[in-house]
Amino acid sequence: MERVSVGRLKCGLIITGCETQMSSTWHILGAGSLGSLWACRLARAGKPLQLILRDEQRLADYRRGGGLTLVEHDGPRHYAIPAETFAAPTPIHRLLVACKAYDAAPAVARLAPRLAKGAELVLLQNGLGSQDEVAEQVPHARCIFASSTEGAFREADWQVRFAGHGFNWLGDPANPSPPLWFDDLHDAGIPTQWTADITTRLWRKLALNCAINPLTVLHDCQNGGLLGHLAEVDQLCDELAILLQRCGQPEAAQDLHEEVQRVIVATAANYSSMYQDVRHGRRTEVHYLLGHACRTAARHGAEVPHLERLHRRLVDNLQARGLRSE
Ligand code: NAP
Repeated sequence: MERVSVGRLKCGLIITGCETQMSSTWHILGAGSLGSLWACRLARAGKPLQLILRDEQRLADYRRGGGLTLVEHDGPRHYAIPAETFAAPTPIHRLLVACKAYDAAPAVARLAPRLAKGAELVLLQNGLGSQDEVAEQVPHARCIFASSTEGAFREADWQVRFAGHGFNWLGDPANPSPPLWFDDLHDAGIPTQWTADITTRLWRKLALNCAINPLTVLHDCQNGGLLGHLAEVDQLCDELAILLQRCGQPEAAQDLHEEVQRVIVATAANYSSMYQDVRHGRRTEVHYLLGHACRTAARHGAEVPHLERLHRRLVDNLQARGLRSE
């Protein structure tokens, strides 16, 4: 296995001598699937990095392994990326938040005292709602939203497989200018585009997810299994399109039915991410997907009886399995 060094001295200090370098350090909160994928590519490009792990025990465990391993088509590579816990004293200027949607705001709240003036956060969470929860915790920081079609999963602790090449869109609903560090991502080979319509992209992805993922759990099937339930899928698309129009996202509603069917056919042999979470007994992000759609519909007075029924059935199903549903 190839070992790549990333400017870490034996004593554990990172080589970031001056203020300019300090402020260019990428802090990465959450060394799971997507966080590790981003961390390893930034490390490979020589960008200064620091992982933030949840507690001393996780940190000790990480240090025993000596770094992260990224498995790609040409085999595994090991990256000796430095890590710390929340308790470290260094100020944070740039933070990649790579936790699940339900963990993001509490984790960022714990880090808030370390955020420097003008800090920038990149939020990798799927769905909607967690971004606003994070922004409430850090009102003086800039929150940049991301929507990713890349795929990665953990083969073991600290080892991640890059399973699906895709693309990333980043944007800030409050500020159309890209951040100064945006080219770091291109340097690192992370396929990314800055977009002015990040909210539309997140809504579109959320709508696709609502039309497909919960039904795969309820019908216990691969995505292609929904070809036998197209009337049900269409009813959901009708309501999702109405909801998107009502909440000011008409572009996200365009040709939704057609795209949902295209995705079902193109990914017929795949199990949806929600299906996989349920199968592995993991908490899902339903609160930030279908839950967010139903809450938004209620706020806008949009009638979405099929979405609401789907949400109730899904919550019952998760609870029957002993999984958290909020
Ligand atoms: P994941 O593999 O479960 O990783 C989440 C990481 O967050 C874990 O390493 C977890 O730590 C860490 N974490 C949680 N709370 C923390 C805390 N308080 N302090 C420090 N670390 C904490 O999740 P993921 O698949 O990367 O997903 C992250 C987000 O990206 C989700 O919203 C997901 O929907 C989205 N996304 C993922 C993919 C993908 O292919 N994986 C693709 C597109 C979008 P422990 O290791 O200690 O549990």
